[in-house]
Amino acid sequence: MAAGRRAWAEVDLGAIRHNASLLSDLVAPARLCAVVKASGYGHGSVAVARAALEGGASWLAVALVEEGAVLRRHDIEGPVLLLSEPPVDAMDDVVALRLTPTLYTEQGVEAAAKAVASAGAPPLSVHVKVDTGMHRVGASPDGALAVVQAVAGLPELTFGGLWTHFAVADEPDHPFTGEQCDRFEAVIERVVAMGLRPPLAHACNSAGALASPAARHDMVRCGIALYGVAPSPALAAVQPALVQDGHGLRPALSLRAKVSYVRRVAAGEAVSYGLRRPLERAATVATVPVGYADGVPWRLGVCGGEVLIGGRRRPLAGSVTMDQILVDCGDDDGVVPGDEVVLLGRQGDEQITAWDWATLVGTIAYEVLCGIGPRVPKVYV
Ligand SMILES: *Cc1c(COP(=O)(O)O)cnc(C)c1O
Repeated sequence: MAAGRRAWAEVDLGAIRHNASLLSDLVAPARLCAVVKASGYGHGSVAVARAALEGGASWLAVALVEEGAVLRRHDIEGPVLLLSEPPVDAMDDVVALRLTPTLYTEQGVEAAAKAVASAGAPPLSVHVKVDTGMHRVGASPDGALAVVQAVAGLPELTFGGLWTHFAVADEPDHPFTGEQCDRFEAVIERVVAMGLRPPLAHACNSAGALASPAARHDMVRCGIALYGVAPSPALAAVQPALVQDGHGLRPALSLRAKVSYVRRVAAGEAVSYGLRRPLERAATVATVPVGYADGVPWRLGVCGGEVLIGGRRRPLAGSVTMDQILVDCGDDDGVVPGDEVVLLGRQGDEQITAWDWATLVGTIAYEVLCGIGPRVPKVYV
């Protein structure tokens, strides 16, 4: 495995299947939509999509038409939801690829209907998005009713679902999620009163699915939880049984590399750009061929980042560079080129998580995962 590779992301598809199955059971009878946008949060969208479907997901979701095209190109059938309204000039592709667009503007509805008509395709199922307070995309509650009505009036389109998105579901005590739920339910009631019950109503992301059972409706859209990572430290604290590794969700990705070079550096010398931190004692310094171009945040080098070698935590010895990092192995003269380095994941009894990095550098685990660059080969196990 990984022969000749100096750095790679190991993706445990068994963990993805397990997480999909755990989430499906948790939210049943609601369905699970596996969110595989952004190359499956850095895990590879195609392999993740297949594993999630095997684990019990019945829908997939992506952000871009291009991302949906990748799934179809790999013979992934079944419903694929586009999480934003596609650009008007992408509607022909949406129809050809049989993706399910989210719509919330008059132009979007018109363009979708026109694309279906010009392709001579069967009616296209579409979902309507209502903005209940996040104010990113979606029609206002009144606007959503008009969009639903427009969709229902066109023979080219089928009203397949109504949905919204939460702004603060990862803060379990925040009252705004309840407010958004109430607004969403009010819209559903008005749509039902028009005689147009949505076949699928959905609102929850991972955080909502885990923490707000009453908001699961007919489907939940899980990304981060599918990858075995908690949506927030706050949620991990209130749901330890679900989000802790070994009990519930299992992290699927680990970032690994091999030591490429080792040398002894004298006390008082410093390493890497900036020569920031002279060594207090002579140390074995290992070079590892993975850097910020691969998704290792530059800031890790200046805020206490660590890696695992030989089952032990070892501090970075200087700045993260584009292609390489330097690791302070202290007095350990047993570290040699070829030794496995774990940047994210487990080695022996030690573990470094995406949230560990995120907390150190001041971001969220989502950005850490999506930051793992295309230069890092994925090895599926
Ligand atoms: C990305 C996204 C999700 C998935 O969010 P997670 O927090 O990763 O579960 C769900 N819904 C929408 C609209 C999204 O953009």
